[in-house]
Amino acid sequence: MIRIYNTLTRQKEVFQSITAGEINMYVCGPTVYNYIHIGNARSAVAFDVVRRYLEYKGYNVRYVSNFTDVDDKIIKRAQDEGVSEIEIANKYATAFNDDTLPLNIKPATIRSRATEVIPDIITFVSDLIDKGYAYESDGDVYFRAKKFEGYGILAHQDLSEMEKNAAGRLDDVELKRKEDPIDFAVWKASRNTTEISWQSPWGMGRPGWHIECSVMAQKYLADTIDIHGGGIDLAFPHHTNEIAQSEARTGAKFVNYWMHNGFVNVNNIKMSKSLGNFTTIHDLLTIYPDPMAIRYLLATTQYRHPINYNDDTLKQAQVELDRIRTAYRNLYFSLNSGKEFTDEKLELQVKKYVQDFEIAMDDDFNTQNALAAIFGLVSLANDYVDHNDIAKKSAQKLADKLAKLMSIFGVKELLEEQVLTAQQTQLLSDRVEARKNHDFELADHIRNELNQLGIIVEDSPQGQRWHNK
Ligand SMILES: [Zn+2]
Repeated sequence: MIRIYNTLTRQKEVFQSITAGEINMYVCGPTVYNYIHIGNARSAVAFDVVRRYLEYKGYNVRYVSNFTDVDDKIIKRAQDEGVSEIEIANKYATAFNDDTLPLNIKPATIRSRATEVIPDIITFVSDLIDKGYAYESDGDVYFRAKKFEGYGILAHQDLSEMEKNAAGRLDDVELKRKEDPIDFAVWKASRNTTEISWQSPWGMGRPGWHIECSVMAQKYLADTIDIHGGGIDLAFPHHTNEIAQSEARTGAKFVNYWMHNGFVNVNNIKMSKSLGNFTTIHDLLTIYPDPMAIRYLLATTQYRHPINYNDDTLKQAQVELDRIRTAYRNLYFSLNSGKEFTDEKLELQVKKYVQDFEIAMDDDFNTQNALAAIFGLVSLANDYVDHNDIAKKSAQKLADKLAKLMSIFGVKELLEEQVLTAQQTQLLSDRVEARKNHDFELADHIRNELNQLGIIVEDSPQGQRWHNK
């Protein structure tokens, strides 16, 4: 039984999918006008872990996310650089894919760009106007926030407070266009012929930011979806407005479980563009050699809690990850000298830790507690290699579980084995055979051959070991 903290109700709720075994999940993606920073990566990693765990539990997860590729920031960037909005969007969408790949973030089932759904957006906006929830004004189209009952509930926003804030942000021209200061744009008129725009019933223009997610969630998933995720800073106004638009159009509940991830702090201060204390993943990947340590740091804090990022916490993540890798390697190589018997006590202990892991993850994806269970397996592996006759199949189960649970955190390659070629694998097993037959000359010959192929072979009390040169 999985329990999820629902931002809408402010409590942990038992998770139940709309369709048995299937989950429709939408997570807000980046605005592609710059390289993503650690805060963006944290959100992507947090929901990747959620997705991987739900898949591990047997659900088929349909995961949809967006690239906001038309927006004020993109238009400004394009003008600054003297290129088109599409060029800026293409460049940073590619960078997003390049940066998230080494972090082992699974690609979305569907990742759509706002500019790919313009006709759907226009239909959506027209429907809102027809239903009286939106109105055209000077080429813009605004949503009547107050007409939507329960506007602001997601972020616990008070209407009068919202009105005060909204009025303070707007200039006189904008105020005149709106019936009410808290109304928000679902379509923006293009007042400048050089910026990107589309023909619409309200003249040339482009979509507002919030509308694309409502459109994509409905187009690619359903009127009511199981999970919607994003950073906690998106709860208002972005997700608040998504709810209003979607529910106004369909009359159905938009999202059953709202999930929001916490911030990344740098030396305990919130990471933000304005403070200039952000690190892009693009830069970090060039200076830090092990992307899996970055992934480990981002994945092992429970998603709602802040992550404190600095050189020390990254180093600490690396130390912990290396401890897990060493335990896995030692265990893996000890299998060579394993014997054909079953160690029931070991298997029971493994089962217990796997259970602990699942209990922790079932409790709103508590990766911190789940990590404690993984370190239980690590201690078990270390003890087992040192003190026992190795029961090959039981030890193999322990190694497999360790790798499996780490893969839910998205940490792969506990061992470099995955990158061995067929030829290298064959040579390694030939060498074990040669030593078994006391043909040490052949064993030495194979060792040299492997050396030339970039593999260093060593013999230990637990049998043959290898690593990449
Ligand atoms: Zn969104």
